[in-house]
Amino acid sequence: LNNIAVLTSGGDAPGMNAAVRAVVRTGIYHQLNVFGVMYGYRGMLTNDIFQMESKSVANIIQRGGTILKTARCKEFYEYEGRKKAYENLKKHNIDGIVVIGGDGSFNGAQKFSQEFDIPCIGLPGTIDKDIAGTDSTIGFDTAVNTAIEAIDKIRDTADAHDRLFVIEVMGRDAGYIALHSGISTGAEHVLMPERKTEVNEIIEELQANERRKKLVNLIVVAEGDETGGANEVARRIKESCPQLDTRVTILGHIQRGGSPTCQDRILASRLGYAAVEALREGIHNVMIGVVNDKIQYTPLDKAVKAKQEIDPEWFKIVKILAS
Ligand code: ADP
Repeated sequence: LNNIAVLTSGGDAPGMNAAVRAVVRTGIYHQLNVFGVMYGYRGMLTNDIFQMESKSVANIIQRGGTILKTARCKEFYEYEGRKKAYENLKKHNIDGIVVIGGDGSFNGAQKFSQEFDIPCIGLPGTIDKDIAGTDSTIGFDTAVNTAIEAIDKIRDTADAHDRLFVIEVMGRDAGYIALHSGISTGAEHVLMPERKTEVNEIIEELQANERRKKLVNLIVVAEGDETGGANEVARRIKESCPQLDTRVTILGHIQRGGSPTCQDRILASRLGYAAVEALREGIHNVMIGVVNDKIQYTPLDKAVKAKQEIDPEWFKIVKILAS
């Protein structure tokens, strides 16, 4: 192993920079040449590849986003595109790649590594925490903390006006941001794709709450929930409970930005280091995660989107603590 490349791909997540830094510094420590690829797979195709030094990653551990930029790349879905990417990597004699991204990026890495002789290591970088083989993903903790901060503020104004707020959080097809932020802010209901919720039952409960003068209500909805998101939930509540002052807030892209939390910086640093060590040991085509505080390798094809079972006890906790 002499020359390795690192890239960030797909949706951005806070902590990606910390992971890039760890890959670069660990590589240089082992006297490897480390190359940065700009704009994910697109940069592999356009040969937007440059050698990085230790100081290229100075002062970035605390920054959200990614200095390597990220993008989605249509051509990479096709063999011809991946071949072009391979040829560009060969020009730099790259013999190992670290891909920081989500399950889509791992699908791409998996195909690439089956077709060509450059080993790939995936690191889970997504705010959604929708990846198997790791207890958390780089960016999740930061996104949840951003959501909590915002929801706490909404609660203040909800309280002042006795309003009901339906708040939509991100997470694509996963409900973890909703579940964690909902429990942490004392929401009465958390709606997420992993569990069907009847809006009618929520309406009945809201009417009961009103009778006992519980006037502040927070409902957290995951964007991927099958009810159709916060606007739809609020529309149905307004229809049945016109007396309630119901408002909607969609938190949106605020959840992707900001300085990563301690937990995300640690996870990113540990995984970036582990990625280089794995390449040096000849470990190929795995995603590296942390499970029960231990580094764990998962074959790239097994790391794709995990519709994890969520323990029903969590919903009991939501219900009991908000009653
Ligand atoms: P994420 O990594 O956040 O899940 P995407 O699903 O957009 O994001 O995937 C990022 C990129 O990975 C895509 O734009 C594409 O270049 C590549 N990719 C995703 N799925 C595949 C696939 N099945 N085959 C080849 N490349 C893929």
